[in-house]
Formats: sequence, C-alpha cells, structure tokens
Amino acid sequence: MSIIFDSMNKKGHEEVVFCHEKDTDLKAIIAIHNTTIGPALGGCRMWNYPTEEEALTDVLRLSRGMSYKAAIAGLNLGGGKAVIIGNAKTDKTETLFRSFGRFVEGLSGRYITAEDVGTSVKDMEWVRMETKYVTGISRALGGSGDPSPITALGVFSGIKATVKKQLGKDSLVGLKVGVQGVGHVGYYLCKNLAEDGAQLFVTDIDSDALKRVVDEFSADVIGVDDIYEADVDIYAPCALGATLNDYTIPKLKCAIVAGAANNQLEDEIRHAEMLKDRGILYAPDYAINAGGLINVANEIEGYNRERAFSQAEGIYDLLMTIYAQADKEGVTTHQAASKVAEKRMKDVGLLKNVYLPKKNVMGKRDSSI
Ligand code: NAD
Repeated sequence: MSIIFDSMNKKGHEEVVFCHEKDTDLKAIIAIHNTTIGPALGGCRMWNYPTEEEALTDVLRLSRGMSYKAAIAGLNLGGGKAVIIGNAKTDKTETLFRSFGRFVEGLSGRYITAEDVGTSVKDMEWVRMETKYVTGISRALGGSGDPSPITALGVFSGIKATVKKQLGKDSLVGLKVGVQGVGHVGYYLCKNLAEDGAQLFVTDIDSDALKRVVDEFSADVIGVDDIYEADVDIYAPCALGATLNDYTIPKLKCAIVAGAANNQLEDEIRHAEMLKDRGILYAPDYAINAGGLINVANEIEGYNRERAFSQAEGIYDLLMTIYAQADKEGVTTHQAASKVAEKRMKDVGLLKNVYLPKKNVMGKRDSSI
C-alpha cells in the first residue's frame, strides 16, 4: 500500500478509486489529481495493460497532466483520468460501461469522464445512462461532438503566436510546415494552415489520410522517418507522443515545434533544454492542444460552439504569456508553462481559503469553521 500512497504523495494526487464489479468483470482505476480549481475532468482510457502497476502508473501520470492542462487553459476544472483494464476491441459491453458509469456517479461530480484512447462516443453514451458526469457525447444528445476541429483551431492559433514570437511574422504565407499525422486533428490543421498560405509537407502511415490532404490542400508527401530532417520552418507533431528525443532533436532543421500530439517530449526537462539550446521554439503540448478540453468544458455549461471556438483562439495569447515568462526567467517554455499552471492552482486555492467558509460533509457552507 505504501507504494500507492508514496506515488500519490510525490505527484500530489487527492484520491484514487479502484473500481471492480464481478458480474461485468470491470477493472478500472479513477485518479483524481487536483480539484482546487474545479471538478476533475479527464478521459477514460481502455487499454490492455500487461500489469495492474502499469495501469496505475498511467492513470496517475495522465490525471496530473489534466490538472496542468485545465489550469493553463483558464478552465474552471481540475485534473483526473480513468483507465479500464481490458481489450478495447473485444471486451466492450454495455454493462461494462454502465458499471463504470455507476462508479463515476458515486463520486458525485468530483470526477467527470470523457472519451480517450480506446473509448468512443458510443461508450460514453452507455456511461451517460448511469451518470450525468460525462462529456464528449454526441451532439444529438446535447454534447459537443468531435473535438478535432476545435483542437486544430487552437493549435493553429498557437502556431501563429509562435511564428510571431520566433520569426516576427503575422501570417504563414511562404512558410513551410511539416505535419506528422493527418488524422482527425492533422486534417483540420492542414486546412487552417493552407488557408493562411502555408506550404504543407505531410507524412502518415495511412495512405487514404495522406491522399485527402494532397488532393484538398496540394500538400507534398514525405517519408515517415524523413519528417525530422525535413527542410521546414515548423514541425507540427500530430500523431504520436515522445517524438522529441535524443535521436530526433539533433536532426531538426525547423525553427519551431508546435503541434497537437500529447507528451511530445520524451523527457520533459532534458529534451525541452535540448530544443532551447538549439534555438528551436517549442510550444508546450498541453497548452497548444487544450482546444479539445476547452470543447468538453463548454459542454458542462451548456454547449455553445461559438464560445468554445473563441476560447480556443485564446491559445494565441496564452502562448505569448508563456514565452514572455520563459524569456524573463531564462527557463524553457515547458518550465514556464508549468509555472503558469501551478501559479493558477495556488492562487485559486488561496482565494478559496480566504473568501469562502469551508464546506461541511453535507456540502453546505459551514460558517462556524
Ligand atoms: P488520429 O488517430 O485521428 O490521427 C493520428 C494520425 O497519425 C493517424 O492518421 C495515423 O495514421 C497517424 N500516424 C500514426 N503513426 C504514425 C507515424 N509513425 N508517422 C506518421 N503518422 C502516424 O488522432 P487525432 O485525434 O488526430 O490526435 C492526434 C494527436 O493529437 C494525438 O497525440 C492526440 O492525443 C492529440 N490530441 C488530440 C485531440 C483531439 O481533439 N482529437 C486533443 C488533444 C490532443
């Protein structure tokens, strides 16, 4: 047990819930990292983890990341995540997800779930049958639908900010952008970039996805391994994590790294330093790709697409703030982003302690405390 509490203590987690139901064979873990700013929101990943330890490590890591993403995006949310241990291709049933939904309901809104790797809108609609604390459901049910266009718009706004800061330009006319992965987000990002005058170089392992962007945006195709040394101004990772590492960073010819993928840096500290030393401006992934979270956050308050899109465009200003902080303190942009997020969590926490009487166990404000 001390392993679990040690891990929670090191990373600052509030609560970890192990969910098991015999009849449905549900094995899930819900991790609530930080609810200082608001309820913990984060997707539910379904993955065939080889061991329970790996599932726990993943949910602790991912839930912490959500606290930072929500904090930096200025949302009224905390960070959480869930994992269901199982094969997403063969083990999905209505009862499994309804059973998971009952555990989410049991947390009374401290954790709000959503789709993630291995789960879909349909799965979340089963969860919705048991709890209202779920987002990412279809537009027909009052949800926000596919988050990719808004994530792409946020990334595009972030690229514009990074171009302004690094190259002093207001538009992408004449700039070459290498997009790695032209799936859901990559496709819409290519559309935004092409409309702003960028020249696109794309790579993907899916030939149909590639054909679409070649046909629609006159993109040039480059090899999967050639993307790192491509002669481009901007490298936009929109596929996998950990593509910035000891092997790839020395190859980069670009001035900017800015894309949608999560966990782009294999080692958050060292590889951010390597990019900085090479004079490459890195847009911190969890800040530039916060559009998807902004989208589901809006679902909680009653979805308004215009409002969500306009908030995603705010990623321009957010990145400018991070870059200014990084310059002022001489730190990497990744460190600067962490500081901005941590400051907001701390400031909101202090505000709550100062101005609001603590809640008693029944949820009522107890003015005698
Ligand atoms: P997706 O699966 O639709 O697209 C990923 C694309 O990358 C696919 O076309 C796939 O074929 C391609 N790909 C896989 N391996 C590759 C490789 N080795 N080289 C080149 N291409 C490769 O996923 P998505 O929803 O577009 O998300 C892309 C990234 O952005 C992911 O890292 C995801 O976590 C992150 N992200 C997505 C959202 C969102 O709203 N969808 C929000 C935040 C972050």
